[in-house]
Amino acid sequence: MLETSPFLSPLSGPSFKASQEGLVHVRESIEKASVYTRDGSVYESATGLLAPPRIGALKRAGYTNPADTTLNVSNMGVIMHQGMTSSLRFSLAHLPKDSYVIEERFHGKFAGETIGGQPDLMLKVKGGWEIWDWKFTTATQRAKDDWHGQLNIYARIMEQYGRKIVGANILAVFRDWRDVRHAHKYDSPFTVFNIPLTWGNNDVEELVVIHKKADEELPPCTPEDKWERPTRFALMKSGSSRAKKLYDTLEEAQLALGNSAADYRIEERGGEPIRCDRYCPVSKHCNQLRGI
Ligand code: SF4
Repeated sequence: MLETSPFLSPLSGPSFKASQEGLVHVRESIEKASVYTRDGSVYESATGLLAPPRIGALKRAGYTNPADTTLNVSNMGVIMHQGMTSSLRFSLAHLPKDSYVIEERFHGKFAGETIGGQPDLMLKVKGGWEIWDWKFTTATQRAKDDWHGQLNIYARIMEQYGRKIVGANILAVFRDWRDVRHAHKYDSPFTVFNIPLTWGNNDVEELVVIHKKADEELPPCTPEDKWERPTRFALMKSGSSRAKKLYDTLEEAQLALGNSAADYRIEERGGEPIRCDRYCPVSKHCNQLRGI
């Protein structure tokens, strides 16, 4: 019997108290949800094609981190995703079977390689098909370039199946919607971003070529690839742990310090490569991260 819910604490560490039996089941379910199995005939998935070429090349060469079975943000997204998909199967069950497709893998050929794509939902509508994908995100999120790319790649793949795509949407679910700071932005934790379908086959082919070059010579990730937060300079009042203001350069902070009372100081806030530290699936094999 569980002494405390595993969902209230990490699945390891001193604070974790649970029966071994419960732990095995919980770990297995997270592992199943978080491990993606790649079809060997597929060169890359749509989302993989949009990731930095260095990540793609390392993954294709077999250098991936071991499956992370902790309840981190990515795995939470996968689990919530599965919940959405299950309820969709139930709610669309009354429609004719040929009017929707839920989470099926499709493949298209671009620049001689097979690219895989798995839209969360394809729905038959007037004049063709609509693509839908769910994203678990924060209420401050705007439509991302990656979402645009992903749905456009799906549309190009579907064209190879003779399916005309007339619309593409992201259903964004805000996991922090209850946060009072965002309460004024949306009156629901769900919103829909319409994604313009602007890509031609050449746009997908360009990405394939970039990845194939990375297979031959591993390129470095750029600060943008690494989601690097730049170093900033905080103007701090003595005795306070909160910055009065943050500045992009030391010079700007020094100028502000000169105009402030004597009990202020400048604190450097180091830059952080967020993707490397928290989200990169190959970080344990990356020499660039280790500075080698
Ligand atoms: S750890 Fe960072 S630098 Fe290395 S592949 Fe991942 S994102 Fe790129």
